[in-house]
Amino acid sequence: MTAVAERMAATAELLSAPPFSDRDDAVCRYAFTPGFAATVDHVGSLLADAGLRVRRDRAGTLWGDRGAPGAPRVGVGSHLDSVRRGGRWDGVLGMLVALEVARAAPDLPVRAVAWVEEEGAGFGQLLLGSRIATGAVDADALATAIRALDDGRPFTEHARAAGMPTAACTESAAILDGMVAWIEPHIEQARVLEDTGTRLGVVDRIAGFVQGELVVEGRADHAGATPMALRRDAGLLAAEVMLRLEELALTHGAVATVGDVVLTPGAMNVVPARARLTLDIRGPHDAAVLGTLEEVLAFAGERAVARGLRTDYRERSRQPATVLDTGVVDALADAARVEGIEPLRMVSGAAHDTMVLAPYVPSAMLFVPCVDGLSHDPGEAVDPADAALAVRVVTRAAHTLIGGRDG
Ligand SMILES: [Zn+2]
Repeated sequence: MTAVAERMAATAELLSAPPFSDRDDAVCRYAFTPGFAATVDHVGSLLADAGLRVRRDRAGTLWGDRGAPGAPRVGVGSHLDSVRRGGRWDGVLGMLVALEVARAAPDLPVRAVAWVEEEGAGFGQLLLGSRIATGAVDADALATAIRALDDGRPFTEHARAAGMPTAACTESAAILDGMVAWIEPHIEQARVLEDTGTRLGVVDRIAGFVQGELVVEGRADHAGATPMALRRDAGLLAAEVMLRLEELALTHGAVATVGDVVLTPGAMNVVPARARLTLDIRGPHDAAVLGTLEEVLAFAGERAVARGLRTDYRERSRQPATVLDTGVVDALADAARVEGIEPLRMVSGAAHDTMVLAPYVPSAMLFVPCVDGLSHDPGEAVDPADAALAVRVVTRAAHTLIGGRDG
């Protein structure tokens, strides 16, 4: 193993356990837990050792950079927070690549960024740090609407308690100043690279998504005394919707999941009066996502009438599919070829901060295979040689992107 690969593996291991994780059987850290704070401090000191000026924005996003003020920068990074029972490489890989790029190329004007609260495990909002930086989430929302899942207190209160300079409201946007390109290295979180024996994927598109909740209202009746024909069973409509959603996703070329179903009152001998089911629909093309959503809701409405039920749909969030920048995609692909790897062009099915940044900064992602496609799990594993390869590719691509800019 090369020295870089060894160092990356050792740091990923160090950060996978207390005090950098809030539990010892998995990686768990979200804004602003003790494990999260310790991890951000540690990675901040590593970036400083690599010669970067390190800062925190008002929300807790860590960034460090180098180069003359106002001069172009290439941004590299990802996130340091995790899901509540996560693995050691999700997000961390991107930060370790940024760190090693800074070490490998002492003259490169690089900006390393760890976006706060990407996974939403602390405040229930995906991609929060990047959305703050791009102005999609404002100070009001942080002080009122966006609250901790654990104790219901607003984001701002938690940030202040964690020592974030919440008054400096404009600083988040400064992270994007002068950024001529953004590269997010990340584990693939699927098995495509592994199955095709490819060591790198260049992501040229990120799937869009819509998430919401369908509530079905029926009537609670006795499970023995009520004849089938007289029931208004909310659970049966939930079942019909789940199966129809599968068909529609297949027809439209989307992926769709009902990941959470709650039947109320939830007793063996009572016909369900209420069903609440989550809908998560994603796809590389917005028409597929929205078509699936529209048709499944229409279906639910029709079947509800037939069964004497009522339905109500509430959307939680949506993000359009994101086409990434050809220049950054090509720079990464060319750099991989110089390293002797023909990379796979890919769509990211998972959401990443890069989809928020892409409208503001020319952006792309570099995927590294993870063993068995496993992610959001303590078993998450990466071949350190692939991580080190990503460092070489990103370093080369960053030089091209900065050089092209100067020339
Ligand atoms: Zn991630």
